[in-house]
Amino acid sequence: MSTLVCFHAHPDDECIATGGTLAAAHANGHRTVLVVATRGERGEVAPGVLSDGEALWERRISETFRAAEVLGVDRVEFLGYVDSGMMGEPTNDTPYTFWTADIDAAARRLATILDEERPEVLTIYDDHGGYGHPDHIQVHRVGLRAAGLAGVSHVLQATMNRDHIRSLLEERAAAAAAEVANESGVPEPEVPEPPDEATEAEFGSPEALITHRIDVGEWIAAKRSAMAAHASQIPPDSWFLQLGDEEFAAAFGAEWFIRTGSVRPDGEPFVTTIWP
Ligand SMILES: [Zn+2]
Repeated sequence: MSTLVCFHAHPDDECIATGGTLAAAHANGHRTVLVVATRGERGEVAPGVLSDGEALWERRISETFRAAEVLGVDRVEFLGYVDSGMMGEPTNDTPYTFWTADIDAAARRLATILDEERPEVLTIYDDHGGYGHPDHIQVHRVGLRAAGLAGVSHVLQATMNRDHIRSLLEERAAAAAAEVANESGVPEPEVPEPPDEATEAEFGSPEALITHRIDVGEWIAAKRSAMAAHASQIPPDSWFLQLGDEEFAAAFGAEWFIRTGSVRPDGEPFVTTIWP
């Protein structure tokens, strides 16, 4: 039996970035540990979702435990920092946010858990946190420092495959355009606007930098139910959960990682297992 520790910024990140990987590890008899830096206090929540007097963080903690149960996570820990909110918001600098945390101090909290678990694999995020959220960037920095302190050498940086997403979007746009053309008899396909370069540069990683592609198709149902457990953030009518099974699998059926300190030589296939 090996141990996998997944380090995340907020409740629900664990499902989207590593839900299938966690479910697969558990199903194969490995120990799985989830560490979440904050309780997601700054998430948006639709009116009427919380009960009277209930704080969002309370709801998000219970959602995390429910999702963890679905994925077969053996241990859940919160580091106790406060959600910093999106980059540039005044909330970034409020007391106890993860973004303002001292990296060494935060890393020692995580390293304490790593010392107890002695994991074969630690997952963190890529160096811009996938999309530039301060808490996600901090997961990268704190995660690397903690791995150093605890002597964990196999560190995988969860990311999104920018090229894969772009081709999915192009396919969808082409299919939609073809449908419009069929309906109206006008064979003029609508060409989608290319994504804004600045945003695109910040979103996920180019495929060339990615070393690992983990096929989680077998655990896609667990991944979907775990996402649904975070109903305050991913309500049933969200686009995530409105996707048909096939589209959901296309978008979330693979999880992508960059192994720290490693490159995939040109033309070499992806590594398909998280284990060293
Ligand atoms: Zn997050």
